[in-house]
Amino acid sequence: MIIVMKQGASKQELADVKKRIEALGYMPHVIHGETRNVVGAVGDERGKSVLQALESMSGVENVVPILKPYKLASREVKPEPSVIEIAPGVSVGGDSLIVMAGPCAVESEAQILETAHAVKAAGATVLRGGAFKPRTSPYSFQGMEEEGLKLLAAAREVTGLPIVTEVVNPRDVELVAKYADVMQVGARNVQNFALLKMLGQLDKPILLKRGMATTIQEYLMSAEYILSEGNRRVILCERGIRTFETATRNTLDISAIPVLRQQTHLPIMIDPSHATGHAALVPSMCYASVAAGCDGLIVEVHPTPETAASDGPQSLRPAEFAEMMTKLREFAAVVGKTI
Ligand code: PEP
Ligand code: MN
Repeated sequence: MIIVMKQGASKQELADVKKRIEALGYMPHVIHGETRNVVGAVGDERGKSVLQALESMSGVENVVPILKPYKLASREVKPEPSVIEIAPGVSVGGDSLIVMAGPCAVESEAQILETAHAVKAAGATVLRGGAFKPRTSPYSFQGMEEEGLKLLAAAREVTGLPIVTEVVNPRDVELVAKYADVMQVGARNVQNFALLKMLGQLDKPILLKRGMATTIQEYLMSAEYILSEGNRRVILCERGIRTFETATRNTLDISAIPVLRQQTHLPIMIDPSHATGHAALVPSMCYASVAAGCDGLIVEVHPTPETAASDGPQSLRPAEFAEMMTKLREFAAVVGKTI
């Protein structure tokens, strides 16, 4: 249920409403709006009609049911888009288009530093790089683990770029959180509910990839797992879904951008690298995604894609990335965004 507070309702009235919600066995989540506050009361769907009585409390305008199965992720609870801060001066969801870039995996100090300097010079504001890699084959490179996290932190130190890196296993949440500015949940873990719940208890932004066979509703339910634990900083990322098509690694669901926009206030990013699997296709998918209204992009860049330990064929060279960024600024300007 959504408890809509009156414009100008006092702090005490809000506190009383929260207390009453808790007394009824529900969790209150306050969303501070520009003109008024609303309180999402989430919990067991079956007995929720008891919350209707809150309508008679002082400071309450009305009580309405949340129709969608996801509650805190929905626009019903929070109509205005969320702007999520990643680091001082770096936010996603506002007027600036965020670009995260870097290698699929951290491979060496020289590789991550060279890439970090190059993507920063081209205008990226967040460095990506996997230290724990979820590979289809157990015989493929699994990542440098903590050593890789240390190299990412060193790259942040010299470039000032915040870092996004994946956590694959609930066991490693604490370790990855020690280094990462943004915790990435990969496509394969989108329904790892134990992991999502743990990440919901962190005070760090989460980049939640869409699964390759996840419907938009299922995807938003996964976001809800994180939100319902208290972490409001969830960033969505469409990265291609499985279809019958084999010309591309996956099929980029560009329509997910406007669909998600209708359903949720959470920022929406696109990963054109895993979506297409081919570096040559990445720039056009970046432009199309910006035109469709995404809030940001995460792009794989490698100094020597031919020697990459993972995902070389879909990685842009630094010069290609820089060229793409130049053109991207024009597309961003058309939709009223800056890079
Ligand atoms: C990645 O970003 O390197 C990655 C493994 O992505 P995904 O989970 O989308 O496959
Ligand atoms: Mn990759």
